[in-house]
Amino acid sequence: MRAMVLDRPRQPLQIRDVEKPRPAKGQLLVRIVACAVCRTDLHVADGELPDPKLPLIPGHQIVGCVEEIGEEVNSKFKIGDRVGIPWLGWTDGECAYCRSNRENLCDRARFTGYTIDGGYAEFTVADARFCFHLPHRYNDVEVAPLLCAGLIGYRSYRKTRDARRLGIYGFGNAAHLIAQIALYEGRELFVFTRPGDLATQQTARKMGAAWAGGSGEMPPEKHDAAIIFASVGPLVPAALRALAKGGIVVCGGIHMSDIPSFPYVDLWEERVITSVANLTRRDGEEFFDLAPRVPVKTTTEPFPLEDANTALDRFRSGKLKSTAVLIIAE
Ligand SMILES: [Zn+2]
Ligand SMILES: [Zn+2]
Repeated sequence: MRAMVLDRPRQPLQIRDVEKPRPAKGQLLVRIVACAVCRTDLHVADGELPDPKLPLIPGHQIVGCVEEIGEEVNSKFKIGDRVGIPWLGWTDGECAYCRSNRENLCDRARFTGYTIDGGYAEFTVADARFCFHLPHRYNDVEVAPLLCAGLIGYRSYRKTRDARRLGIYGFGNAAHLIAQIALYEGRELFVFTRPGDLATQQTARKMGAAWAGGSGEMPPEKHDAAIIFASVGPLVPAALRALAKGGIVVCGGIHMSDIPSFPYVDLWEERVITSVANLTRRDGEEFFDLAPRVPVKTTTEPFPLEDANTALDRFRSGKLKSTAVLIIAE
């Protein structure tokens, strides 16, 4: 099968003919139709995340069809079913985290397109327990970005609980999806962009944000919660400064530059800073139930599989206007 392979971080992926995987016990063999590109793929390719499997087939927002079913797979899937394969690829089910509904923190978790092979290829195998049925409302390409930007964005959003005023820092793919849910649920939305990025601020206002401005600006009122989607550490103290008492700042990314020091008074009065790691299957079930009701809309830009490097380069340099999706089969 054809695959785009990362041999070493900081080198372009190589198109290669590799052996088609075979489903082990509990796994599905999936013929991949589309795989959306996530910022995490960039962090892996750029060597910003430790210890990836090498050589590695990246990609963890995979949409495809079940081609073959391994032994001991429950009856949730049959041949020909459409499935989504997310970032969380496997957990041990027995560590303290797994036994307390925090499988996202499993000590031995494996991650699609990072510590196990992912979706920049014609086929992949995946543990059936971690695959999702996808809402019928979406076609294969438009649903792909929901599998990570949507899911992990949703987990970040849920951590803001019932915050009435919600700040969002960085208005990329995940932010676009989560903003739609926040507005659907009646939150007041403040969107922070790079200073001077008036075009994105305009887009945010058009979508329904109550206010949009540069990341150094103060919103008209303090927000009750903020989600930081940009991987920029100085946004943490900036978001704290604009945070109401008892509020929470959620860092939604897997990687962030260092956070500068800030005065304790900005944290005092029970403000909280937290991060979000990975996802649980329950996040997925909740999100795929909610997304078609909003309905959350995605915007995508297709690339053929062999142009994965172009997609990553354009992502890295901020030239993508929407989510890049690798189209692998019709
Ligand atoms: Zn575990
Ligand atoms: Zn991702």
